[in-house]
Formats: sequence, structure tokens, C-alpha cells
Amino acid sequence: MKPEEADLLLRLLKLIKALRVKTEMRGIITFIPTTGGARTELDQVVLYQKGRKLEGGVWIPRDPITHAGIVTYALPINAPHCIRRDLDGAIGSAACDLTIVVGGSIAWKEGDPGYDKYLVVGNLGEECGLVWGGRWPKPHTDLDHFELPDWRSLPLVEV
Ligand SMILES: [Zn+2]
Repeated sequence: MKPEEADLLLRLLKLIKALRVKTEMRGIITFIPTTGGARTELDQVVLYQKGRKLEGGVWIPRDPITHAGIVTYALPINAPHCIRRDLDGAIGSAACDLTIVVGGSIAWKEGDPGYDKYLVVGNLGEECGLVWGGRWPKPHTDLDHFELPDWRSLPLVEV
């Protein structure tokens, strides 16, 4: 599989490709970052630890007010990026992160060039049949996250 396809389930890959054509037509360049596709359970746990500290056996936010540094709220069982088995038996990620790139730089935060275009990309993603993380309430808002609507019904695969 080509690296840019990020080990996505084929159903998802088709929708992401359709979305990227739509964004490209509007002059919006997108990019799937390294952790934007399939993740092992270990990858997910490592990401979950970011911005948290272990206290009494529980991972709690380092900054309970702003949640600074937290990059995910999902442990593997609740993470659509963790490899799942699709209805046809294929395995892969049921989610894909699609960042916006302007002048070679990814728009990660407010004020970055292109950051204001996530709503456009999100709306187009929804038109394609994807669930967009930009609709989730703060602090769970995830502007670059897209997932298959039915991923919760797909079993997690240990790799
Ligand atoms: Zn994501």
C-alpha cells in the first residue's frame, strides 16, 4: 500500500480520495500526517499519554483547564484509528486525519494560514458521507479528523 494511503479501510480510502479531489478543486491542499491513518494499539496509547500524567494509576490531564498537549481522548477500544476488521474481512483504519497545507506548512492552530478552511473541508467531507470531528464539542473538537459513520460496529484487530 502506498504510504499516503495510510492503511485506511478501502471504503474509507475511496471517500477520502473523493474528498481530496473536492478540496483540490477549491485550491485547498490536504495532507495525511504520520499518525493520521492506521495506528497500532501501542501507537494509540503513546498518543493518549501526551499532555497527561500518571497519578494513582490513572492518566489525568497535566492541565485540567486547557487540556494543553492532549492529542486524543480515545484509548484503543474507542479509537477508530486503531486497526479494525471491515465487513469484507479487510483490515485497516476506520479514520483518517486530513490536515490543510499552505506554502508547505500544516495549519495546526488558530492563526496558521489555511486554518480557517477546516470548516470548508469538513462540510465537503460530510457531503462525501464521512463523520467530521469538527462537529464535536470542545475540548473534543478535532478539525482534521474524519471517520466512517459505522466504525463502532467493526471489531478491533490486534496486530
Ligand atoms: Zn483522527
